[in-house]
Formats: sequence, C-alpha cells, structure tokens
Amino acid sequence: MAVLIDTHAHLDAEKFVGDLPAVLERARAAGVAQIVAVATTAASSAACIALAVNHPNLFATVGIHPNHAAEAAPSAWDEVVALASQKEVVGVGETGLDRHWNDTPFPQQEDYFARHLELSRRVHKPIVIHCREAEADVLRMLRVDFDRNGPIHGVMHSFVGDAAMGEACLAMGMFLSFAGMLTYKNAAALREAAAQLPLDKVLVETDSPYLSPVPLRGKRNEPAHVVHTAACLAGLHGVTPEALAERTTRNARELFGLPT
Ligand SMILES: [Zn+2]
Repeated sequence: MAVLIDTHAHLDAEKFVGDLPAVLERARAAGVAQIVAVATTAASSAACIALAVNHPNLFATVGIHPNHAAEAAPSAWDEVVALASQKEVVGVGETGLDRHWNDTPFPQQEDYFARHLELSRRVHKPIVIHCREAEADVLRMLRVDFDRNGPIHGVMHSFVGDAAMGEACLAMGMFLSFAGMLTYKNAAALREAAAQLPLDKVLVETDSPYLSPVPLRGKRNEPAHVVHTAACLAGLHGVTPEALAERTTRNARELFGLPT
C-alpha cells in the first residue's frame, strides 16, 4: 500500500479526546504512516509533544496560532521556546497571519510571526505557516526574512493561494501543503493552481479535525482522510496515487526530517 504522511493534524483537539486510539488505527489502516501533530498554543505545544512521546509515528510542532496570540499569557512564548529543542519537535508553528477572523490585532500577529521565523532558524526546524486572506502580508514578511537570512525552510500549510503565490513561496525555498479544500466543488481555481505547481515541493495534510475532504465533507476530519486529498492531487497531475504518495512522503520526510 502507498505510504502517506498527514503533515498537519490537530490531534490534541478536544474532538479527538474520546477516541484518539481508534483515529490513529484508522490512519494506519489507510496507509498514513506518520502524522505531524501541530500546536496552536503553549499548552497545545506540550500536548503535541506528549502525543509524540507516546506514539513513535507521531511528531510535534510548537507554536502559537495567530488567532490565539492575543489570549496568550505573557509566559507562553517562553514556554514555546523552551519546548522547541525537544527531540520530538520537528517544526515551529503554526504561525502566520489571518485577516479573516481578526481574533488578534494584526500588529500582534506580525510580532508573533516574526518571533516564530526567528525561532525556526535558531533551532533549525521548519516553520509551519497559516495564511488566511493575508497573502500579500505573509509574502512581505517572508521576503524580509528571505532577503536578510536566505532560503526559508518551511511550509505554507493548507495552501489556497494562486499559482503566482505558490511560485513566490517556492522561490524562497518553501514547500506547499494541500488540504481537503482542494477537493471542494467550488475550488476549481485552487485545483488549477495545484496542477501548475511542481510536485517536488508539495505535501498533503488534513488539518484535522477541520475541513474534511470530499466525499466526507461536513464530518469530523481525521488523518485517514488524507487519502482523498492525495487522490485528487494525483488526478490533477495525471500520476497514480502510488506515485503521488511516494513523492509527497519523500518531500514530507525531507522537510520535517522524519525517519523512513
Ligand atoms: Zn492548522
């Protein structure tokens, strides 16, 4: 069976508290060999690490989501920094910018995004970036970092930009990760962009428990569902699901330094 990696799942979410072992077993049965548990707060960072300690096929990130930055305690960032060098941690984030929800004042989002970019370079772990209705702002901040420090080791998670945005990120050294939105009926423009972007820098993810792919849209999302996004992406590139899995799994292992 083709081996896939779900590169972005919020396994510490409330919605998985009741049945995480069953969720992980379904992922394994679907060929999802490894999962990156992505943090959204300082407490979530510690929770993701605990999951990775207890499950050898799970890996953690540490970070504070832009929509949670406003509510973060003054000590939260120091906690994230302290956790970042643990061996179970394979990435920094998710961080980024969000103009959709406005849960955090924008200058504060920019401040936290800049801190994550610096931390990612300091601990040599890739940055996981959230971008919602803030493409130009994210690109502007990435370009400042790129011009000053060189190629950016990281991923645009749940990428929904156009081909030009994708190319701009690739040119700075980043990977692009596609989630369930790729399969949505109204996402023709995103599929068109995805078809144009080279597979050698592409990943797949679920962003569980949110945004299940078609045909499971509306249900709680979980890592096993990444097969639907991968199948969609394979179709767009005219490759077999096996070839797509092989390529994206190699990419994910390269980006996050996961064992084979
Ligand atoms: Zn996420």
